Amino acid sequence: GSASNPLLSVRGLTKHFGAFAACSGIDLDIASGEIHALLGENGAGKSTLVKMLFGILDPSGGEILWDGRPVTITSPGEARALGIGMVFQHFSLFEALTVAENIALSLDPKISLAKISDEAARLSKVYGLPLDPKAHVADLSVGERQRIEIVRALLQNPKLIILDEPTSVLTPQEADRLFETLFTLKSEGRSVLYISHRLEEVRRICDRATVLRHGKVTGTCDPRQETPASLARMMVGTDVAGV
Ligand code: ADP
Ligand code: MG
Repeated sequence: GSASNPLLSVRGLTKHFGAFAACSGIDLDIASGEIHALLGENGAGKSTLVKMLFGILDPSGGEILWDGRPVTITSPGEARALGIGMVFQHFSLFEALTVAENIALSLDPKISLAKISDEAARLSKVYGLPLDPKAHVADLSVGERQRIEIVRALLQNPKLIILDEPTSVLTPQEADRLFETLFTLKSEGRSVLYISHRLEEVRRICDRATVLRHGKVTGTCDPRQETPASLARMMVGTDVAGV
């Protein structure tokens, strides 16, 4: 929390699947220029929360404030129009198409492929995401495929970019490269919501962390001021951690 208004505030956000609460009364603030971790074990409710922020899931309760204004986000298109970009855990790319052709599918059909290729190449240079717009997706590694998704999100000039467990598919070298990209985004004043269950990387790259357990926030902290044990306790609870 800074003195200025947060870019995004979530108040009491809740999602029920039948009788089961995947997210329950979640409060979260993200400032501009902040890399904010959403930390929690598998099943904690991380993906459910960000799917509500990106208009994929309809909240059962609570409120989302964007730049201080209450908003209802009912589709990814609405999320993108507000300035929210998302890089999913599972990519939706067409293997037989090129990088530029895949990116074109999510843009206005009036924009030419040549223009999209130029812009994708420019963004890939600026953000350190090596990518050939003419390459076929079928020939690309999973790390390269993720870069397409990041460039695709950046083409919309987002104020907030959400990444769901991005390093789970990356080599350590690719992860280091991604962290440099995130630092560049931060230096431009953009915000990052970084989902992970990996304590070490959250302590390395994130300014703040909100920890989820069983769909509830168990703490918000500066992860660099915490020990791995104290973060683990927030993630799994003292009963399981045995401390
Ligand atoms: P995380 O991303 O932290 O691993 P999720 O948000 O994917 O967790 O899931 C949180 C809980 O909600 C899990 O128990 C999961 O099984 C459940 N869940 C997620 N999506 C659905 C759904 N569409 N229908 C029913 N249960 C779901
Ligand atoms: Mg998930």
